[in-house]
Amino acid sequence: MKYCENILQTIGNTPLVKLNRVAAALPCPVFAKVEFFNPGNSIKDRMAIKMVEVAEQQGLLKPGGTIIEGTSGNTGMGLALAAVIKGYKCIFTTTDKQSKEKVDILKAVGAEVIVCPTNVEPDDPKSYYSVARRLAKEIPNSFYVNQYDNLANRDAHYEQTGPEIWEQTDGKITHLVVATGTGGTITGTGKYLKEKNPAIQVWAIDSYGSLLKKFHETGELDMSEVYPYITEGIGEDFVPQNYDMSIIDHFEKVTDKDGAVMARRISKEEGIFVGYSAGSALAGIVQLKDQLKPTDLVVVVFHDHGSRYVGKVYNDQWMMERGFLDVKTVKDVVNARR
Ligand code: PMP
Repeated sequence: MKYCENILQTIGNTPLVKLNRVAAALPCPVFAKVEFFNPGNSIKDRMAIKMVEVAEQQGLLKPGGTIIEGTSGNTGMGLALAAVIKGYKCIFTTTDKQSKEKVDILKAVGAEVIVCPTNVEPDDPKSYYSVARRLAKEIPNSFYVNQYDNLANRDAHYEQTGPEIWEQTDGKITHLVVATGTGGTITGTGKYLKEKNPAIQVWAIDSYGSLLKKFHETGELDMSEVYPYITEGIGEDFVPQNYDMSIIDHFEKVTDKDGAVMARRISKEEGIFVGYSAGSALAGIVQLKDQLKPTDLVVVVFHDHGSRYVGKVYNDQWMMERGFLDVKTVKDVVNARR
């Protein structure tokens, strides 16, 4: 018999898929590391299980304990799966910006979810960071994961995502492109790949409304860069400790609209039903296409699955209300069907 002892053993070893249509205008081949094949439908399963295992080894998480985290959903899903198998309770704090689907999915796998306001400073007592920290102090035998500063996050990608991409490309990768939030994916994967070949270029994709790009370029924490934006899972209003900015060669910002439109194209033209940040990542590569040549080989990480965005990016009404979808285009499509 060939089987897994439990669902956690299915994490990782995701496929690398060539993009055939959406990357046609680029001078070189682009391959997507399709991370929704993980059991929680996102790349975050990898770091979630790693953070739990390290906490167990360090005695920070004990049998019957409670895992607490501030999460936009994907990390929560990974943590919740680990908690189910290993017998922990889970409490997550998230923001009212996140899609309702993400919150419902976390509840479906047994987690308690507390929704907090988005538009407050990180150190405001109402912020999802502050609420998670307070609960971790109040609840006995609890462990506050803190994916932002917990370096087991980037270590998971150094140990798994980097080696997988190196082997899947036979070491031919020239560019790694990652939409970035906590910095775990880009720092861990990029560090491994640069140790294999220092010439590999590592490009980070950021949101307008995030201070990461400016920080990379100037070393300044410029709060005037920070304002609310719509893209989910990427960009930050502070610099998490998982970053090693020296691994990253370039930061590129992508608009909310361009990311959403590209996510829809990837789903329709490649049959890969991706989440929002996958669209941002590919839109970023298109913006940078003049820096690529025919002999290059790009790997882009597709972080999560489109099912979490059916009420948003994949909803025409939602797209039109934000000016992301041309009303005329939609009318033409509807008329053509009649
Ligand atoms: N895309 C999505 C959908 C995510 O949930 C995340 C995690 N916040 C990222 C991209 C960024 O990954 P990382 O936190 O490893 O930088």
